[in-house]
Amino acid sequence: MTETIAVVGAGQMGNGIAHVCAQAGLAVTMIDVSENALSAGRATIEKNLERQVKKGTLDAAAKDATLGRIVLSTDLGAVAQCTIAIEAATERRDLKYRIFADLDRLAPAGALLATNTSSISITEIAAQTGRPTDVIGMHFMNPVPVMQLVEVIRGLATSDATTTRTVALAKAVGKTPVEANDYPGFIANRILMPMINEAAYCVMEGVGTPEAVDTVMKLGMNHPMGPLALADLIGLDTCVAILDVLKDGLGDPKYRACPLLKKYVAAGWLGRKTGRGFYEYAGK
Ligand code: NAD
Repeated sequence: MTETIAVVGAGQMGNGIAHVCAQAGLAVTMIDVSENALSAGRATIEKNLERQVKKGTLDAAAKDATLGRIVLSTDLGAVAQCTIAIEAATERRDLKYRIFADLDRLAPAGALLATNTSSISITEIAAQTGRPTDVIGMHFMNPVPVMQLVEVIRGLATSDATTTRTVALAKAVGKTPVEANDYPGFIANRILMPMINEAAYCVMEGVGTPEAVDTVMKLGMNHPMGPLALADLIGLDTCVAILDVLKDGLGDPKYRACPLLKKYVAAGWLGRKTGRGFYEYAGK
């Protein structure tokens, strides 16, 4: 594969996407508005590569080569050098609209413009550009280096060629692509978020502690991780943002975010990334 990748956003998803693309031999520019996010993102990639070396799944030379293929930038103009841009910035509609209008201006003709959005309409994001046939959803799962799935979401105007190229990229970075159509939350979050929300209601109403809820789902339903631990991993702010998209997009109040989730977000308890959510992670 000869694609050159730009990843927009260096947070937990962006650095994971940069990691797997670089490990697959592709040149990657990781772009963020925050210098701190870029250096933290690079440090996370290095730490995760080191873990792979310790496990014996990667040799030290491949680790160095992977890191050597990743360039950092605070300038979105760096997408001029890419053939595929993958946006993984914060889950806010206005922000993604602005980034895609900018990508339309800055990315070369023929570039594939993908978004890692968890829930926002691909069709609407594509409509911010003059090239909606080249826009697609490429929804990696968290943590990206570990999880096998990439949900590939076609907007209304997405071309077959764009879909084929996205599927090829997903396979080239070692993932299994599954196609979904463009409805709020697609497949993954249409099913996952109501479960997380219901788990939060169980805690709010005193049906069970977070530990009890998660243990029931792990031991009773054979889930590898309980829904509240998973919500902490995803980020409670991201969960609330996705639930809002489901509620507004599907027009059904059954998707309204649990008040306890909203309270935690208001308190800055966003989960692992802030050290506290349903659980505490201080010192971990
Ligand atoms: P995050 O908060 O860890 O990172 C977001 C990054 O975007 C931050 O570093 C921020 O500085 C950067 N950013 C903000 N505005 C920007 C701009 N204009 N240009 C460039 N960078 C900008 O968030 P995350 O969890 O990595 O989520 C990113 C995207 O991936 C969201 O759309 C989210 O819905 C999606 N997603 C998240 C998960 C998950 O489990 N967290 C899973 C799948 C998809």
